[in-house]
Amino acid sequence: MTVVRAWVGGFGFAKVGANYGPSLLATNEARARGFHQILWLYGKAGECTEAGASNFFVIWKTREGKKQIVTAPLDDRLILAGVTRSSVLALARERLAGEVEVVERKYTIDEVIEASAEGRLIESFASGTAYFVCAISLIHHRGRDIEVPAGKSGEGAPITLRLKNWLVDIKYGREDHAWGIVIPEER
Ligand SMILES: *Cc1c(COP(=O)(O)O)cnc(C)c1O
Repeated sequence: MTVVRAWVGGFGFAKVGANYGPSLLATNEARARGFHQILWLYGKAGECTEAGASNFFVIWKTREGKKQIVTAPLDDRLILAGVTRSSVLALARERLAGEVEVVERKYTIDEVIEASAEGRLIESFASGTAYFVCAISLIHHRGRDIEVPAGKSGEGAPITLRLKNWLVDIKYGREDHAWGIVIPEER
């Protein structure tokens, strides 16, 4: 069975109910096989788009040895522009500058497989309000397991964990930040 979550010209970018019905069927099948989410691939080339109802990221090294956080771009409106996605990208651009480059571009599952085979796949994670920032340890594609070495329990995914903790600290008012306003509770 082929299920398509979103297409160019459609409503993939929007949080509308019709996007979730068909994807739930596929998600149930994945769950039954022991996985948590579907990684939605688009088109013949198999572009990585989103994981379930969350944005999807890989952290890899290029062949030149440059570390990158890569996620799909928003320009063709295939992807939902998650608040968590944009927060993660902003924090990465600000706080990981010089260490990890942030790249928004189309990339395919074959590129992820290649990076894995060449030992360049470092981490992978999904982001969304519901899951927050969640490290991914394994991607199954057409009978093949792509192990994400650092993702086993989250603590093993240091870049993902740093991004997550920064966001948690802002969210719970532990860090004074323009995105977070602490409102005292009335007694
Ligand atoms: C909700 C959702 C996300 C994540 O968006 P957030 O604003 O970070 O919660 C990503 N993709 C899809 C398809 C979604 O429905």
